[in-house]
Order: sequence, then C-alpha cells, then structure tokens
Amino acid sequence: MNSVFTGKENCCGCSACQQICPGSAIAMEPDKEGFLYPVINQEACIDCEQCVQVCPLIKAGNAKEPVFSNVYAAKHKTDNVKMTSTSGGAFTALSDYILKQNGVIYGVDFEENFKVCHKKARTAPERDRFKISKYAQSNLKDTFADIEAELSHGTPVLFTGTPCQTAGLRSFIGDHPDAKNLYVCDIICYGIPSPLIWQEYLRHLEIKYGNKIESVHFRSKVFAWNRPNSNRNFMCTTKNCPQPHVEDDYYTLYFSARTIMRPSCSRCRFTDSRRASDITIADYWGIEKYMPEFMDSKGVSLILINSAKGKRLFEQVKQDLDYAERPAAECLAEQQRLREPVKFPENRSQFWEDYYTHGFPYLIDKYVNNID
Ligand SMILES: Cc1cc2nc3c(=O)[nH]c(=O)nc-3n(C[C@H](O)[C@H](O)[C@H](O)COP(=O)(O)OP(=O)(O)OC[C@H]3O[C@@H](n4cnc5c(N)ncnc54)[C@H](O)[C@@H]3O)c2cc1C
Repeated sequence: MNSVFTGKENCCGCSACQQICPGSAIAMEPDKEGFLYPVINQEACIDCEQCVQVCPLIKAGNAKEPVFSNVYAAKHKTDNVKMTSTSGGAFTALSDYILKQNGVIYGVDFEENFKVCHKKARTAPERDRFKISKYAQSNLKDTFADIEAELSHGTPVLFTGTPCQTAGLRSFIGDHPDAKNLYVCDIICYGIPSPLIWQEYLRHLEIKYGNKIESVHFRSKVFAWNRPNSNRNFMCTTKNCPQPHVEDDYYTLYFSARTIMRPSCSRCRFTDSRRASDITIADYWGIEKYMPEFMDSKGVSLILINSAKGKRLFEQVKQDLDYAERPAAECLAEQQRLREPVKFPENRSQFWEDYYTHGFPYLIDKYVNNID
C-alpha cells in the first residue's frame, strides 16, 4: 500500500490503521500543520489492506448507530463536580459507575509541556485529570490495542473522545467477543485544533509573560457557564504569577478565525444525529430559553442516548444527576455540529502560509487583533 488515505480531508488521525497493522508497518507522523497521519513503511507492508478496511471514514456506515433515541438535560447533583467539569459533569457520573465496576476509563489528559493525549485511569483521582475539555487533537498512541487487551481480561471499559476517535475505536474492536463490556462516549465536536498551534500559543504566552507556563485551564468556571463565556474562559498561570491570566486569543483562532482545525473537520462524517457511540455528551446550550428553571451557572450537560447499551448505562448513573428528558429539536437547533461540519474560511491556506513565512506572533496580529 502506498497510502491509507487519499487526500487529507479523508484522514481524521484516529490511528486505527496504525494499531491494527499486523506488521507494525505504519507510524503516525505529524504533517506541517502538526496533525498526525499514517505513514507506511513500504518494506514492512505486506499489502493485507487491514489498514484500509478498519478506517472509519471508509467503512460503510462509519460505525454509527441509528438516530439517537433519548435526549436529556442533566447536571450532576454535586456542586463541586459541576464546578470542576466543563459542562454539567455528565462525564463524572458515567465514569464513576464504570470505576465502581472495577473498570477503566480512557480520556484526555495533558502530558509534558501540556501536550494533549489519551490516557487510562483506574481511580477517581486519575480520572479527574480527564475533566475539562482540552482544545487540541489528542494523540491516541496505542489506546485501542490497550482497550482490546482490557476487554479480553473481562474489564469494563469506558472510552471518551471525539466522534471520529470513537468511530475509529468501534471499527477497530469490531465484533470482539468481549465488546459487551465496552462503553463508548463521544462529545459533540466543533472541530479539532492543531497540536502544533496549541504548542506555539503556549510559547507565545511564555514570551509575553517572560516566564514558564505552570498551569492551563480551558472553560474555567470563574465565569458563569453560558454560551458567550465559553469563548473567554481560558486561563493560565506562570511561575512568577500564581494569579490566573485570562486569555482569549486561542479561542479567537479556533471559534472565530476557524483556521486551526484539521482538514478532515471540514468534511466531518460525524456531524449528524447518527452517532458512533453509545452516549454523546455536550453543553446544553439554550437551556435558559427552553427550560429556564433548569438553567445553572455552574453548568448543564446535554446527553444523547444512542444505543441500548447507552440506555442501560444512563439508567445506572441517573441517580447522580438532576435530569429532564427534552425534545431532540432543541439540540438540533442549538448544536451546529449535529447538523453540518465546520466551514473553513477562504483564507485558511493563507493563514498557514503566513505561519511558515512570518511565525506565530504575526498570526495573532493578523488573524486575532484585526478580526471583525
Ligand atoms: C475539541 C472539543 C470541541 C467541542 N465542541 C463542542 C460543541 O461544539 N458543542 C458542545 O456542546 N460541546 C462541545 N464539546 C464538549 C464539551 O466541551 C464537554 O467536553 C462535554 O460537554 C463534556 O462535559 P462534562 O462536564 O460532562 O465533562 P468533563 O468532566 O469536563 O470531561 C471532559 C470530557 O471531554 C473529554 N475530552 C477532553 N478533551 C478532549 C479532546 N481534546 N478530545 C477528545 N475528548 C476530550 C475527556 O476525556 C472527558 O471525557 C467539545 C469538546 C472538545 C474537547
């Protein structure tokens, strides 16, 4: 095989191809935008084509369920959980149940220099590191193979990730005899930003503050949970300043300029109500209009039940939540990513040209400070 994919819009970087390759002939390597793509070592490749067959973007049906069956507005009963979660703490309720079954949780954490990657948790403190959305594409490494091993030992597993990652996992696991113990939870995903630009942004902040970044926090609840605040609640601390700096330039590049997302996001196969997961979690945007008495400045989750297994899981965790069943029309109206992929601006390639030619600070001047 020369390549697993044809055109960058046709690879979401889920790494299912790399992890299934029987000859370890595939490596995930970053391109000039910092996104990982499979590269085949031709000498090791035996042309078995398993890499193509497992690709969730190629596979018929994309590993999706039929349309979701139930929609809930939900919030964790514990205030502290809501305050330390991105939305209403749905992830904590779901993962607490799996941990109680002696299961394992896979979610997204930071590693050194705040690089974003998937990790495994066996305890609540380990799981807590997955809380709070991290707005950069995570490196999955050998997560799918590790999940397969856990399932073979009969361990209950909860995997959380973007819709394309959950589709990759489902495709990789296929009809594994122990797949009954696998619970798959995706988020609604606006689009996934470049790990390279995330690192550049951190260096930019270190130069600005003349000091090393000590901590970062997206979606801080120092500001009330609501849609407008979701674009202005990134905070970081530096060595010389434990008081958080509030910064929104990265959000502007992500949400407004829309120049830093992976090419496949513009052709995303997962921006609809057929989900590649058992349960989908997100923010319940618009709850203040539809059900004002349920609005909570500490956060409200949207939960979509997509499968019979998702329904069983929700039944087990619902005692930890205040919840109300809602009409699907509400989330379809509020969540653009349940209807259509992100539209890239015409200047996306100019943005990357400017980056290679002039460097990151120029991008802030041109694409953040001068935005309409
Ligand atoms: C890139 C991105 C785009 C999103 N876009 C939308 C959107 O358009 N609309 C919307 O309503 N919600 C969106 N969300 C989801 C939302 O921000 C919350 O993650 C979700 O509601 C879960 O909140 P919680 O309080 O239940 O979970 P928390 O307790 O805060 O846990 C966060 C969960 O998100 C997972 N996660 C964190 N970072 C990543 C990542 N980089 N990739 C994959 N999974 C990650 C963790 O593993 C964990 O399961 C997005 C999240 C991300 C990371």
